[in-house]
Amino acid sequence: MSASEYDVLIVGTGPAGLGTAYHLTDISPSISILMIDKETFCSGGLLNDCKQNYTYPIGFAVENWSKEEAERLLPRVETHLRPIIKKKHNLEVYQRRADRIGVTLLDVRQAHVGTDQSRTLIRRLLGELKSRGVHFLKKEVTDVFENSGRAEIIMDGGETVRGRNVILAPGRKGFGFLQQVMERMGIDYIDNVVDVGIRIETAADNYRIVKDYYDPKFYFPDGVRTFCTNSGHARVVLERYQGFNLVNGHALSEKKPGNNLANFALLKTIGLKDPVRSGQQMAVFLGRLANEIGGGMPLMQRVGDFRMGKRSTAERFNEDLYSFPPSCHVTAGDLGLAVPAKIMRHIWAAMKKLDTIIPGVLHPSTVMYYPEIKMYANKPAFLDRHFRVSENIYMIGDGAGTSRGITGAWASGIRAAEGVLE
Ligand SMILES: Cc1cc2nc3c(=O)[nH]c(=O)nc-3n(C[C@H](O)[C@H](O)[C@H](O)COP(=O)(O)OP(=O)(O)OC[C@H]3O[C@@H](n4cnc5c(N)ncnc54)[C@H](O)[C@@H]3O)c2cc1C
Repeated sequence: MSASEYDVLIVGTGPAGLGTAYHLTDISPSISILMIDKETFCSGGLLNDCKQNYTYPIGFAVENWSKEEAERLLPRVETHLRPIIKKKHNLEVYQRRADRIGVTLLDVRQAHVGTDQSRTLIRRLLGELKSRGVHFLKKEVTDVFENSGRAEIIMDGGETVRGRNVILAPGRKGFGFLQQVMERMGIDYIDNVVDVGIRIETAADNYRIVKDYYDPKFYFPDGVRTFCTNSGHARVVLERYQGFNLVNGHALSEKKPGNNLANFALLKTIGLKDPVRSGQQMAVFLGRLANEIGGGMPLMQRVGDFRMGKRSTAERFNEDLYSFPPSCHVTAGDLGLAVPAKIMRHIWAAMKKLDTIIPGVLHPSTVMYYPEIKMYANKPAFLDRHFRVSENIYMIGDGAGTSRGITGAWASGIRAAEGVLE
């Protein structure tokens, strides 16, 4: 084997790629592996906030995962991530209130690292892999080819590297890269699911459940759910995507002083049918519309204004009852102009139910930010249960629609590794 040929090439050092590398080196310590990433630190959720969910189906794409398969692999994910599982209190009380109005509150095993501590975790994980002999390269991968039982990766600048197997795990940001590879290789795929929603920010006292349950997972009618709840020192942040801005949220570790805010997303899952088929395209249209109305920024509106059918204005945003300044300064405006009516109706219905379960969350000062959009699902036509798309190439993680979170991505990596070892 030449110096630039490896047993396994892994594109992406996020949890999916790490899951593959750890499992391969756990089982076959002499295997040669090169991990390639365009960033020094992987750029997804492992770096941002790093909440880990250890209960199926959270973080798993259910079309690719059974409960048994997820539960077989989650303990192995835990072995390497070493989470400190958070305690919950009064769960039955919240569950009883939710059940009464047709809402489900899942009991999820969770851990939280915090944006300020996640680099330490990533350094440990990469350091351990280096000590197992895994090589790393900081380069952008632009294409991948198959040739005589080998795969070849092309990198920025034209450099190439060969491997017996290639694992493509480029995450959500690699969505377009994967589509380009699939189209050139003639691999069938669909991209028909998108989650569209708003991020809520309120005083932690208005959403007291966060003192009992770190990231409560509520499932409402009409495909709406809570997602990614942050408290302690919590902030809403901008996420740049294809020339426009979305919102997201994160929190610092418990070591940092709190800011008495909580934020979480309310997302509605939309499954597109013919003739509209691309979740990504729909996301781009909705994202651009909101940014157009917001003068290049997302929109925010106080619940008090929304209820009165009035737009929020910059001048009045922090007055009177509006007891806290928003942690993310976007454009005060009218969500009703930007959110499709059916999505808004279903999310508002969910908010009212949530306010029945946890009275206070619909306080007039509560801020609704829009848009928060998650594109998950390039769903390639996999050849087997190891997410193989051709003889030597596997596609895993959020970009390939096998996961929707850190633990599901890591478990997907293990499944691909099992395929390589077979
Ligand atoms: C801001 C944010 C916060 C999140 N918070 C959480 C959370 O708290 N908990 C949770 O469970 N999930 C969270 N998620 C979701 C989570 O990030 C993903 O589910 C998970 O990281 C997916 O893992 P992955 O390995 O598929 O992709 P990623 O973690 O995104 O890793 C992909 C890697 O591939 C690299 N890459 C992409 N394209 C190329 C290329 N062409 N060449 C070379 N390298 C490339 C990227 O630089 C990146 O490092 C969050 C996501 C975001 C964006």
